[in-house]
Order: sequence, then C-alpha cells, then structure tokens
Amino acid sequence: MQFPYVFVDGEFVALDDARLSVHANGLHYGTGTFEGIRAFWDGGAMWMLAAVDHYERMHRSARILGFQLGYSVQELVDASAQLVRKNEVREDAYLRPLLVLGTETLQVRVHDLKPRLSIAITPMGLNYIDPKGVRCMVSSWRRTPDLALPNRAKVTGGYIGPAMAKSEALRCGADEAIMLNMDGHVAEASTSNIFVRFGSTWYTPPLHDDILEGITRSELFALIDEVLHERVVERSIDRSELYAADEILLCGTAALVVPVISVDERAIGGGSAGERTLNLQRTLLAIARRQDPRHPEWTVKVDLSLSHRA
Ligand code: PMP
Repeated sequence: MQFPYVFVDGEFVALDDARLSVHANGLHYGTGTFEGIRAFWDGGAMWMLAAVDHYERMHRSARILGFQLGYSVQELVDASAQLVRKNEVREDAYLRPLLVLGTETLQVRVHDLKPRLSIAITPMGLNYIDPKGVRCMVSSWRRTPDLALPNRAKVTGGYIGPAMAKSEALRCGADEAIMLNMDGHVAEASTSNIFVRFGSTWYTPPLHDDILEGITRSELFALIDEVLHERVVERSIDRSELYAADEILLCGTAALVVPVISVDERAIGGGSAGERTLNLQRTLLAIARRQDPRHPEWTVKVDLSLSHRA
C-alpha cells in the first residue's frame, strides 16, 4: 500500500497524477539526486529523523551537480511534515525527496534543464535489511571513484553499481554486498556505510575512500562514544581486515544499524549478532521515537494537530 498524496513542484497531488515524461532527461541518464528520510510513529506522534541533515545534504548534492533546488532546507522540512499530515500517516514511514531533470531532451548534460522536485512517502518497517544479522560478500563491482562520479552527491545514476552488486550478492546466496573502491580498500555496502571493530576501537572508511557521507554514520560517531564508551577512527580498511574483525556493522537510514554475521562465508564474531551493534541499534531506534532522552536535536516532531494544509 502506498500513501495517496505526493509533493510535486510545490503542490500536493494524488499519487497517480504525479507524472514525469518518458522523454525526461533524468529517466534516461540518471541526472538527478535524492534522499531518504525515516519518520517514526511512537504511538502518539510522528517524528522525522535527521530531516535537516538530509535536506542539507540534498542542497550540497544539488550544488555539486549544478542544479537549483529551489527550496530552503526549512521549506523542505515543512513540506515533509505537511506530507505526513496530508497522508494521515500513523506508522513508520520513509520519505523519498527526488530532484530530477525533467526536461524532454536527448542531450546529455546537466545545465539549462528544468529540475523537478518531488517528495514521496511510503510505509517502511524495520526490516529493510534483516536487523538480526546479514551475510555479506565482497562484490566484484567496485565503488566509482570521485574522478568518475561524485559519490557524495547521492546521484540517482550512481546506484547502478550498487544495484548490480546487491543482485550479485543475492544470486551468490549472501544478503548484502560490500564494495571495495578502485584502490582495493573497503568503501561501503550497497546502500549503507560500514564500521569494523577490533577490541574497543571501531574503524570506518574516510570520506576520500569513495563513500557516501552517511548521516547515520555521523550519528554512530556520537553513539559509539556515548553509549559504548569506545572510539571511532576513520582510516582505510583492507579486505582481509573484514575477515579478522571482532565485529562489523552496517548503517544507513533505511538499514538503521545492522549486525554483519559473516563476510565471504567467514563467520564474524562467532557468527552471531554483535552485542554492541544490537545496543547501538536499540539506542538509535529509541532516540528516533524520542523514548531515549539523548539527542532530541536529531528528530523533528510532525504536529498532527495542525490542519492538512498547515
Ligand atoms: N551509502 C550509500 C551508497 C547509501 O545509499 C546510503 C543510504 N543513503 C548510505 C551509505 C547511508 O547513508 P545515510 O545514513 O545518510 O542514509
């Protein structure tokens, strides 16, 4: 089931009336950028997690690509809250803001084409990736280098590699793909960042290892310190370190925090979900539903008492 309304170029329209031409540039060439934002139902209120950070990243993405977003961060946060109200959402959901070049042209370029901005919303539970633990394989597909594609811009066209990697992983009997960059260092999973623990230190690839600068990744920097009292070091990670690690987790907006239980059929942490990872998973969810007092600044409340038009 999808929710009935979407936001398109400043207006709320019925899902079936939100249209993009088959000639749209973005459909052919992946000339677009997008975000994913989770909204949580706590039984009485809806909370959007890190909505400001996501729209700030979307602004940066648009700048990198040379597109005009046309709305301030606050306007986009407000439109998202309105969309939740308009659809009378009372369950966990996922917002999908998308800026795509809508002009009908065969020319391959990013300038002088009209961007279309939409925000769609769909129900989303906690099992985008199995929260109990995933079996990963190192993909034969590499992460594109920044020289070839601006990864930090979250470009729609940049997802063909991760999509091939994910399908390859599933075909090979794993649940998720871990992609190396062109230098052979660990970059990230198909749609999530990666953390690897040795003893009481967690390691995660630095931004220049061709990763997306994940917002959940930054949240974990704080939580690993505050909840586990352990430290995080950003440094390049070799493939063989994955096999030797004490614990590995994946993190992302849709994935949340997920334990990795094997890599290339080698058990991690004895082959069961790491306790620290499960602790981080629980804490982030509790923060998202405002059931944990930490980091209230990460969530924005959707005021359900306002009218649909507010
Ligand atoms: N890497 C990639 C390629 C992704 O698509 C995502 C999901 N947006 C992430 C990492 C995690 O980023 P975030 O925590 O901001 O969702």
